[in-house]
Amino acid sequence: MKTKIFKDTIEDIEAAGRILASGGLVAFPTETVYGLGANALDGEAVSKVYRAKGRPSDNPMIVHISDIDDLHVVARVSEDKLQKKAIENIYKAAEAFWPGPLTMVLPKSDRVPEVTTGGLDTVAVRFPSNPTACLLIEKAGCPIAAPSANLSGKPSPTTALHTLDDMDGRIEGLIWGDDCEVGIESTVVDMRDSTPVILRPGKITVKDLERALGVKVRLHYTLEESIGTMGNGEPSHKSYKESREEDIVPISPGMKYKHYAPEADMTVFLGSRDKALKMAEIEANRLKAIGHKVQILIFDNPETAAHDLFRKLREADKAGCDDILAVGVEEQDKDGGIAFSVMNRMLKSAGHNIRKV
Ligand code: AMP
Ligand code: MG
Repeated sequence: MKTKIFKDTIEDIEAAGRILASGGLVAFPTETVYGLGANALDGEAVSKVYRAKGRPSDNPMIVHISDIDDLHVVARVSEDKLQKKAIENIYKAAEAFWPGPLTMVLPKSDRVPEVTTGGLDTVAVRFPSNPTACLLIEKAGCPIAAPSANLSGKPSPTTALHTLDDMDGRIEGLIWGDDCEVGIESTVVDMRDSTPVILRPGKITVKDLERALGVKVRLHYTLEESIGTMGNGEPSHKSYKESREEDIVPISPGMKYKHYAPEADMTVFLGSRDKALKMAEIEANRLKAIGHKVQILIFDNPETAAHDLFRKLREADKAGCDDILAVGVEEQDKDGGIAFSVMNRMLKSAGHNIRKV
């Protein structure tokens, strides 16, 4: 299959929308990462996404809409399914964070085929803010199921070039848009209970949600135990190792799969920034002495880390690095801030290969 490159223009987005409407696959930019889109209501189109990514079919997809009025097409936000408080939370969250990097897990409507939700009776819904993404969904005329546009297991693509690296020849089209602003995937929050539960941390944090909803928001227990201090005092990241992937009960099925992994061997150095960098440098010298090509990753702040992490991992692989030595981003707050979301990705990328300093 030849992958057609579309420009980020109205005419080209319209043409890409027609491919989606007729059951084809098109990758496109969003504010989080590039997505690999298919008509969410067309089971056959969605099956092709699993094949293109090499993704296990029990790993559900996020369904993207471009108008809040389309929420009822994919989800059932009604009193026969949900308590009043949950419904109130859902509309408040939509009001505060949509369009934007928040995905809500809700009871699914009958129109969404099980293949889209990996057999679950829930659907994950997001209204992205990227104008290209919104126009594409609008032109396709249907909700768009779109996981990240990487081969399963690899870091999510945050540039058009990195999307093409993985998807060339596997999909009908790619919209060549800008680099992604946020750089890590959306926050996924289960909104079915009156207390929302974060299943995947992202740019929108526990605090952001609590402020907007006026209710307590919890982290899923598999994330809860991973919070640790990195700077002063004892790092408590040992719990990351203890929560081995196969032990996780997958309320969010993606949690049990290998994620974001570069080809190179990756180690994360945890501790105070200066000390962690120093130890990474010592290790880099040791590895270079035995002929390895080594890349050290260190970021100025958590936002930059979110923006650049996946791009840098892919660049290191392209440059043929044997080892990536990453300096952890300090968790300034323990309430699941953006640093926490970055560390969630970084530690998975490294297969929880951690060096505490
Ligand atoms: P990706 O599209 O690659 O960013 O991954 C989508 C992720 O969203 C999945 O791996 C799940 O972790 C999560 N997700 C999607 N649908 C559901 C759902 N119905 N229930 C819980 N989590 C979901
Ligand atoms: Mg993904």
